[in-house]
Amino acid sequence: MNKSGRNLALEVPLIIFAIGVAFVVQMLMTPSKDPTVPHFAEVEKQEKDQEVMNVPVPKVDKEGEIPPLKIPLTYSEELSDLGEKPDWTELDPYQEAIRKDEFLYLLAEVFTVGDTWKNWITIGEDSAVIRTDNQDESQNYELFFQKEGESKKVPRYWRTREELADTPSDRPLAGLRIAIDPGHIGGNYAALEQRRFLLNENAAPVQEGDMTLTVANTLKDQLEALGAIVNLVREKTEPVNPFRVEQYQDYAYSKLEHNKGLSTQESVKREADRMFYRVGEIRARARLVNYAFKPDLVLCIHFNADAQPDPANPVLFEQEHFHMLLNGAYTAGEVEHEDERFIMILKILQGIHQEEAKLANAAATAFVREAGLPPYEYEPNSRRAVNVDGNPYLWARNLIANRLYECPVVYYEPYLMNGKDSYARMQMGDYDGLRYVNGQLRRSIYREYVDAVTEGLVEYYTENAK
Ligand SMILES: [Zn+2]
Repeated sequence: MNKSGRNLALEVPLIIFAIGVAFVVQMLMTPSKDPTVPHFAEVEKQEKDQEVMNVPVPKVDKEGEIPPLKIPLTYSEELSDLGEKPDWTELDPYQEAIRKDEFLYLLAEVFTVGDTWKNWITIGEDSAVIRTDNQDESQNYELFFQKEGESKKVPRYWRTREELADTPSDRPLAGLRIAIDPGHIGGNYAALEQRRFLLNENAAPVQEGDMTLTVANTLKDQLEALGAIVNLVREKTEPVNPFRVEQYQDYAYSKLEHNKGLSTQESVKREADRMFYRVGEIRARARLVNYAFKPDLVLCIHFNADAQPDPANPVLFEQEHFHMLLNGAYTAGEVEHEDERFIMILKILQGIHQEEAKLANAAATAFVREAGLPPYEYEPNSRRAVNVDGNPYLWARNLIANRLYECPVVYYEPYLMNGKDSYARMQMGDYDGLRYVNGQLRRSIYREYVDAVTEGLVEYYTENAK
């Protein structure tokens, strides 16, 4: 970090100035109730100032305030989209915290597909040497394994089931901290984010971001009634991201130029859209989760859809399915990114997968019992998914949301928005009690979703392994 040869008298005012700039950006960006949208030119200038000075933004402790959300000036092939260079010294508290066999199992069997991780991580007798800088092979981080017969508690904001206090019988989730992430944005953004299904001109559109919010609101009430402390990551059909599409334009252009050297106005717009509604949006949500809520788990609420053979003539599918996604299965290209490699190692060291797998197993069992959906099947030799524990409903995949949230994430992908049965139920909206749909008396699809999630959590947290 220290720039050798630089005059200290020059460095100090620069750092003070950088802190000032960072503070101003943070004031603008902190996603409180209504994030102020900064003027683009202003933000760009601040970003440029930081870049020019080459002074790192002061590290914000996880106990501290929410760090500013930034848009990098240019695309970097060493990082994931909009990613930031990680600080590997953050792994220092995890030295000698994991056994070698456990580290190797999680790395090779859960977190990666193929063995290109070996290009970046070398397993030695009592340590793993991890390359930290893609350009400079001499930059390594050496992680020592746990010594025989020793154990160590590692820093993390979330708690395992065993670490939670016993709960009163009428409030089985008392004290459990839950963040609910209603997938996508919905509302006026549903078309842009391609989460809007319109069967025909006369039908009501089905918008995933609206439906996930309906589930999230009811779920919050129900989980709170059982004693949980619940935060919604998104409370309306509006982005959490304080930036807008036009602010991602320069970055999108630089990415396309870097990858192909071919960019049209249209392709830049498409890429900027994606940076806004997906990557930037989830990065904004991850800041809330990791710095403000610090939950014991995140529930990612989604509805699935199958690809249309002919998008101009949409059809409804007979066969519906359900699966849950856990973080893992980093592809060769993902392990190659410095920031993804870092967070993968951090997740392994925090033991996130073990808790996530137990939780997801209980959650999937309850969901299947309530909704009766068959499992979605990935191809057996998928390059992007790894089956978890032989459970046909559980798959590891490296999604932005389940990667950036630094705690167990339970990610639901039930019902098809363009499935014959679910589509009819979605057209009925939310309602109390039972109604006659598709020849059967049914709860609303939203209540069924809420009940299934609730039962899974209650079963997991009361099944006393404590
Ligand atoms: Zn979704």
